[in-house]
Order: sequence, then C-alpha cells, then structure tokens
Amino acid sequence: MTLVMCSLTIRSNPTIINPQTLSYFCSFEHYFYRLHKTNRVEQYNSNHIALHKAIMAGRREGPAIGIDLGTKYCCVGIWQHDHVEIISNDLGNRTTPSYVAFTDTERFIGDAALHRVAIDPVNTIFDAKRVIGRRFSDSSVQDDMKHWPFKVIPGPGDRPMIVGSYKGEDKHFAAEEISSMILTKMKEVAEAYLGSTVKNAVVTVPAYFSDSQRQATIDAGVIAGLNIMHIMNEPTAAAISYGLDKNETSIGEKNVLVFDLGAGTFDVTLFTIEDGIFEVKATAGDTHLGGEDFDNRMVNYFVKEFNRKNKKDISGNPRALAKLRTACEKAKRALSSAARSTITIDSLYDGVDFNTTITRTDFEELNMDLFRKCMKAVKNCLIDAKMDKIYVDDVVLVGGSTRIPKVQQLLQDFFYGKELCKNINPDEAVAYGAAVQAAILSGESNKKIQEILALDVKPLSLGLDTGDGVVREMIKRNTTLPTMKEYALSTHSDNQSSMLIQVYEGERTQTRDNNLLGKFRLLGILPAPKGVPQITVRFDICANGILDVSAEDKTTRQKHKLTTTNNGRLSKEEIEKMVQEAKKYKCDDEGRKKKAEAKNALEKYAYNIRNMVTDKKQKIDDAIDQTITWLDGNQLAEVDEFDDKRAELESICNRIIMENMKILVLLNE
Ligand code: ADP
Ligand code: MG
Repeated sequence: MTLVMCSLTIRSNPTIINPQTLSYFCSFEHYFYRLHKTNRVEQYNSNHIALHKAIMAGRREGPAIGIDLGTKYCCVGIWQHDHVEIISNDLGNRTTPSYVAFTDTERFIGDAALHRVAIDPVNTIFDAKRVIGRRFSDSSVQDDMKHWPFKVIPGPGDRPMIVGSYKGEDKHFAAEEISSMILTKMKEVAEAYLGSTVKNAVVTVPAYFSDSQRQATIDAGVIAGLNIMHIMNEPTAAAISYGLDKNETSIGEKNVLVFDLGAGTFDVTLFTIEDGIFEVKATAGDTHLGGEDFDNRMVNYFVKEFNRKNKKDISGNPRALAKLRTACEKAKRALSSAARSTITIDSLYDGVDFNTTITRTDFEELNMDLFRKCMKAVKNCLIDAKMDKIYVDDVVLVGGSTRIPKVQQLLQDFFYGKELCKNINPDEAVAYGAAVQAAILSGESNKKIQEILALDVKPLSLGLDTGDGVVREMIKRNTTLPTMKEYALSTHSDNQSSMLIQVYEGERTQTRDNNLLGKFRLLGILPAPKGVPQITVRFDICANGILDVSAEDKTTRQKHKLTTTNNGRLSKEEIEKMVQEAKKYKCDDEGRKKKAEAKNALEKYAYNIRNMVTDKKQKIDDAIDQTITWLDGNQLAEVDEFDDKRAELESICNRIIMENMKILVLLNE
C-alpha cells in the first residue's frame, strides 16, 4: 500500500499506474479511507479524480470467491450476508483433496481422485504445488520425485512435466495445468452453491512463494478461466480470519505471530494489527516443509522395517509405497491424540501383510530436526522484525500439521509457556481470509471488512548484478508491498555498447550464492568513456508480490523490460493451448457425467420397475389363487355369485394395473 501512491507522485501522469495495483485497490473509497487511516496520505500527492475513474473501471462484476489452494487440501469460501460461508463440495466436505487422477476413460479431481491412489498410483497426481514455478533440476523437485509414484520428466526450459495416462495416451502436464484442474473444481463447487458463474477469485500462496511460483499460480488461474484478483499470502489471510474472529480490527495494537504448517509448506509471519491494518513485520519459512515430509520420514522408516522383517525391498514399487504412505498419514494423525498407533496393511507386497506399531515418541524422533527447523524460522522471524518474543500477544496456529502435539509443545516452550491461540479453524482460516479479501476487492460495503487493510512484504531481498559478480541490493527483504525502487548505473569500460542486467533473489553478497530470477541485455549504449552513460534500473513489485524490472538508457531513451522471471514460465501461446485443452477436458468430463447420469437413470428405472412388478405380481397372484380356491369350493354357485366374484377379481386387478400406470408415469418424469 505504502508505495502505490508513491509511484503516482513520481509519475504525475496517473494513466501509467500499474494495472495490477489498480485491480488490487479497486474500491476507491476503501483505498483512500485506509490511506487516511494509516497517516500515509501526505506521502502521496496524486490526481485523485483520474485515479478514481481508473479504479472504478477496475470494479469487478459477479461474485468473487476466496480459494486456499493447498498442497494437500483446498478450501473455498465466499462473503455472503455479512459473513464468510465456507462452501462444501459435492460430497459435503468443506475441504477438497488437491488430487487429479487419470484413467483409460475419464479424469477425476478431488475426493474421487484421492480414492484412486491405492488403485492406480502412477496416474494419480498430487503435490503440484511442490512443483509449480520451479525448475526440473531444482534439488527440491529431484528429492520429491523419489517419493512420488507418478513420473516427472524434464520439459522445455527445464520445466518439470508430470506424466499421466489419459484415455490410453501418455500426456505431459505442466504443474500449472494440474493446479488449474484443481482450481476449476473449486470454481465449480462455488458455482454449484451459488447457482451462478464465478469468474473472480483471490487465491492464496505461501508467503515464501517466489516470483515464479506466484506467476505460475496466476497462470493456473487463467487456464481455469478465473480472473485472479489478487495473489494473497496464506498467513495474511489467516491473520484476517483471526482478526475478525477476535473482533480485533478495532482494538489497540497487537503483535500476532501466525504459525502455518500445512502439508507441503511452512510460513511464520509476525503481524502488527491495529485499527484494522494488518501489517506484516517479518516473514520466514520454507516452501518445502510440512506434513508430507513427516509422512516421508515414516515411509522410509517402515520400508526399512519391512525389508528387515521380510527380506523384501518395496522401495521400487509405487503401489506398495502409495499404500504405505496412506497408512502412515493416517497413523500420524492418530498419534496427535494417542500415544501409539497401529499400521495394518493386507498384502502390502508379494502377498505379504504388514502389521506394525509406532509410538508418538518414535514419530517425534523421526522428525525432530524438521520440528526444530520450524522453531528456528520463528526465531529468525522475530530477529528480522526486531521484536523480543515477550511482546508477541498471540500465537495463532494454522494448517493441519499444527495439530502435532510436539510442534505445539516446542512453540509453547519457546514463548515461555504461553497459551497458543486455537480459536480459528486451522483448515479453513486461509480460505476465510481470502474470501474476505475477495469481498473487499469487490467493493463490499460491510463496515467490519471495510476497516481491513493488509500490508504484505517481500520475504526475500532482490538485487542486480551487472557483470562484476556482486549483487547490489535493490529491495530489502520484508519491505512492504507494493514497492518501487530505482537505481542509477553506468558502464564498466570505455565505449561499452551493451549491458547485461541479471536479477537475483537472496541474502548473500556474492552473485553465485543467490537465486537467478532472470536476465536481459540493454543494447545500443552510445560510445562514451566508462562511467558516463546514465542507465536507470527500476524494480516494481505489485501487491501480488510479482516483480517487474526495467532498464532505461537516459541518453538514447532505449528501454528494456524483464516483465517476469524466466524460470520455465509458460508462454502466452502455451497458456492459450492449455485453456483450449482445459475446455476439451471439461467437455469430456461433462460428456462422461451425462453418460453416467443417463446410465444411472436407466438402471434406476429398470430396478424400480422390477421391484414394482414383483410386488404387484404377488398381489395379483394372491387374488387369483384366492378366486381359484373359491371356485374349487363353489362349483354349484349361482350366476350372480360368479358375476360378483369376477367383478371383485377385476376390481383388484384393475386397481393394481391403474396404480402401476400412475407409478410408470411418475418414474418417467
Ligand atoms: P495444505 O494447506 O498444505 O494442503 P493443510 O493445512 O490442509 O495443508 O494440512 C494438511 C496436512 O496436515 C497433511 O499433511 C495432514 O497429514 C496434516 N494433518 C492433518 N490433521 C493432522 C493431525 N491431526 N495430526 C497431524 N497432522 C495432521
Ligand atoms: Mg494450507
């Protein structure tokens, strides 16, 4: 927020406001109201009317949802009737597994896909969030691959491609595509509840997600046909949920630490909440640490045990590993409330059953280094925020893995035995906050949420190297977003005609120790002695945490832009192709759904008729038997007696036939 308007001050022409910034602050009233509240208004001297017009043009039509796109589970919510409604899926579950499964005939997403893990693990894809925006050669992808039953291969630009067999054909999917399928499912869950099309969404990501991971998440949204209004940090969303729950948007200043440990990622963020302003003081964490790592430790432990007991190595068998992983995850959950848990798997491998137990202490020992890593991040976060732990008013737990007693105990001990805040639902808090943010961005007028303003930060420092192997820091980590910084540069040698600008992310001074985000070359520098040409490099980070870098030669007015990082990002054409593919999948899914509905309808009708006919036939048989018995005993009866008996039988049969006709009509409707 702080520097949005700053860019307006520097550039007095408001038509060049970053469009992402505009879309973020699409509520004009909210925008200026909050600026006023934060006492930052004097920093900005802009053309209000032009900005107002631009912001109004950015207002969105239709409902806007909040989606927590988790590694393991997703959750969707919407602000309605002055509160957030967490929307249940078609099975009535409030969270949906982030799984996609392919078969010879169809595609499954969510719960139906999760059930395919034990049947066809090779074609059941999960953990797209652990892959998205990363390179295939990343050590984390290489490590994870050892645990995945599905195959991942290198694609163009070192992009990891996930392999799945759909309708008998091997398909290669980018992580963005898999995530888009999950987003599509969440969109459909919301649409079924609302009874209308949903186009706009706020999607959450871990605070520690890099530029390319954020950009790739936006691309996933585009493929799913969603307009991503904002990429929001998960802990910020959780903090909003906490703030609304405690009704602390209007009470004096509070320091709140959000500890979010999910399935695949870990974030710890320190907020100062005052007057509805949620300001991130510092954030730390790991985009690659969570419940699945704890599961993996257990899997490795039991693979060894199975080998020891049975002299059989299951490590190369995806099906056995998938069965074992599912059992381990279940046992891990049980250990959060019991001291011991049993694992029983019939015919795990080669017809051999696996029966074993694990104690909570065993589990804790297996993962203690990971738990300690979490605590180290808490410490680092406080150091970055320059805050002593005694000033932390509340520690909020978010994410399924915070149910682990040892994690809670370590955290509580660290804060001198402080009671941890467990008021908010750890599975739903993120979607809740995202739904609130979606409502704010849609111009929702509820006073409670109009008070809210989230000021996020860039978790890693950004810098540039112009060829001397040293990184010049441009944006310090934990700088409030959006932000902009310019840097004046010049040439290193006489008559230098071009300059390589390399953009890095990280905290080290030597280029080689940091992560290269992207590079470009500024060409056409006019011949001049070294140090004379004036080149300005500009870093712009929008509220989504996405970076734009541009360089300008002041003499020639030559400009160059690095709009996004090039970590295997999808091109426009590739995205368009995936959008078309997504439509095809949707069409296939709908065709299959219609076929299944038609088949079910036929089956239901046939069974109903059979049951009905059996029942009625019995009644007619009884009436006939009774008539024949009467005949046998009344051979010499009179005419009217025979006529009466016939009328009685006719009446019974006609009534049954008429009832059948009515039921047939009903069944046909
Ligand atoms: P994500 O947002 O990354 O998908 P979630 O916050 O939904 O993650 O948490 C899912 C993780 O929490 C899984 O790894 C799951 O095994 C773990 N989890 C859920 N309940 C428990 C529990 N009772 N004890 C330990 N871990 C749990
Ligand atoms: Mg989560």
